[in-house]
Amino acid sequence: MKLILSFLSILILSTCFSQLNIQSTNVIAENILKGDYDPADYAAGVVVDDPDLIVQGINSTISADSLKSYLLEMSTFVNRNTGSDTVSATEGIGAARRWAYNKFEQFSADHDSRLVTSYLQFDQFICGMGQHRNIFAVLPGTDVANHQVIVIEAHLDSRCEGSCDTDCEAHGMEDNGSGSALVLELARVMSNFTYKNTFVFMLTIGEEQGLYGANAFSQYAVDENIPIKAVLNNDVIGGVICGETSSAPSCPGLNDVDSTQVRFFTEGGFNSKHKQLARYIKLQYQEELLTHVAVPMQLTVMSAEDRTGRGGDHIPFRQDGFAAMRFTSANEHGNAGVGGDYHDRQHTTDDILGVDTDGDMVLDSFYVDFNYLARNAAINGAGAAMIAVGPKPCDFLIETFEGPGIVIRITGEIGYPSYRVGLRTVTNDWDSVYVLEGNLDTIYPPTSDNYIVSVASVDNKGIESLFSREIAFTNGELSIDGEIAPVAPFELMQNRPNPFDEATIIGVRIHESIQYTTAFISIRDLQGREVERLPIQLNGEMNEVLYTHGYGKVGTFAYTLVIDGVDQVSKMMVFAN
Ligand SMILES: [Zn+2]
Repeated sequence: MKLILSFLSILILSTCFSQLNIQSTNVIAENILKGDYDPADYAAGVVVDDPDLIVQGINSTISADSLKSYLLEMSTFVNRNTGSDTVSATEGIGAARRWAYNKFEQFSADHDSRLVTSYLQFDQFICGMGQHRNIFAVLPGTDVANHQVIVIEAHLDSRCEGSCDTDCEAHGMEDNGSGSALVLELARVMSNFTYKNTFVFMLTIGEEQGLYGANAFSQYAVDENIPIKAVLNNDVIGGVICGETSSAPSCPGLNDVDSTQVRFFTEGGFNSKHKQLARYIKLQYQEELLTHVAVPMQLTVMSAEDRTGRGGDHIPFRQDGFAAMRFTSANEHGNAGVGGDYHDRQHTTDDILGVDTDGDMVLDSFYVDFNYLARNAAINGAGAAMIAVGPKPCDFLIETFEGPGIVIRITGEIGYPSYRVGLRTVTNDWDSVYVLEGNLDTIYPPTSDNYIVSVASVDNKGIESLFSREIAFTNGELSIDGEIAPVAPFELMQNRPNPFDEATIIGVRIHESIQYTTAFISIRDLQGREVERLPIQLNGEMNEVLYTHGYGKVGTFAYTLVIDGVDQVSKMMVFAN
């Protein structure tokens, strides 16, 4: 036991230390990332910068056949483990890296040499090797005065059951050939258009052993003052067959197929810029892309940062303070085994592209759905493009409640023609996104016990900035007819979402500061038996804990705020599959 513990602590420690000698192998790419470049050097021959044309163009140019061709090529490397062969021209991670690098170079040659390709090299002991390389391509933006970088990435490395098994057939097609193909396709397609912000299309390595490649790039951004505005991580994004890592609202049963839903995973609850990013991507899908698509998709903003017991490349970026999210298939063919005990297809020799059912040596039945992957690529591309062309974010104050209306005053960037107000009450998502005419206006939402509000600038083409911080308030706190309604010193909020998720967020609002020694949320079944105890701080205005109940737990449970051993108030919550 002691041996296991010390081994675990070494593993945990090793992921905390930053990588050494992190450097871009191309100084031009590095200078662009720092904002030190002339945009004219990377101008498109034909400039297309109209938001609607960009969204239409991205959607119509993304090709399921291209995605399939990348996956077929990736499968020939046999094993893309981070510790696999780097010398062979045809097999192993070295051949895969050079192939990806050449893809970026080819896309650049096809698009006025606008992409600048580089490796990000770093020293880290992984699976017997001391030095590793991410591959990335930079598409420089036009606005160097307000230099900002948007990262679209996926991990290229694959694995079998043994995380350092370099001899097995680790095709890693769903995890994560799918995300890698998506990133390559977006590099190809998005290079057609012109944006204010700079894009990085990146394939990382060392994800399976500890998120090393993502951590190295994030550390590099911190060290070199590279202003990352948003990170879109795509990991397990092409599969449509339900396994045990799937969760409500999709995946009603094992091996169920659904190619119309995708999950957005982010850290935090109230006032999380990561969830704000996920909501923004969903809003752009609904308002900009949806009218152009053949097959509508359902996008779910999940409660947790990742699936139960799992993690991904968005996490190191979030830890360094960059807004970051993960896209993952709703029906995912892995399981939720803790401790790396993943069966089903992921992390096994079964994670292949497809099978040959009629014996003609050509794959004809596939585990990755190329059309589904294409739809997810378009959601990424359209959302990221709107971040990259949109206006500057603003801030706001709640002026007052006037009867049923909430009067909102924009601060900061007050010169835009209009603004949006995102309002949410009971889920992770906005109930409505209102329009503000000018920088002082009133919205009239339905009555609710609690409102959580944030705002965005809107430019003269109707494109939103990323949304601001959130402010939470109740009816009672603001003046109604000149009187302040009395409120309790604290308030146990309804969990969000309720039901439909594998995790849920429980909040306690503090209206007056309270003195206490211990406080926790007690989760109890309907017989009153405690199934979980979640410590909670009662310091700030809004205090939250994430309760991960995991896949497959269903039914009604109670949750109770307990302060200094005394039950204060209870509410009910429902887990549904
Ligand atoms: Zn993965």
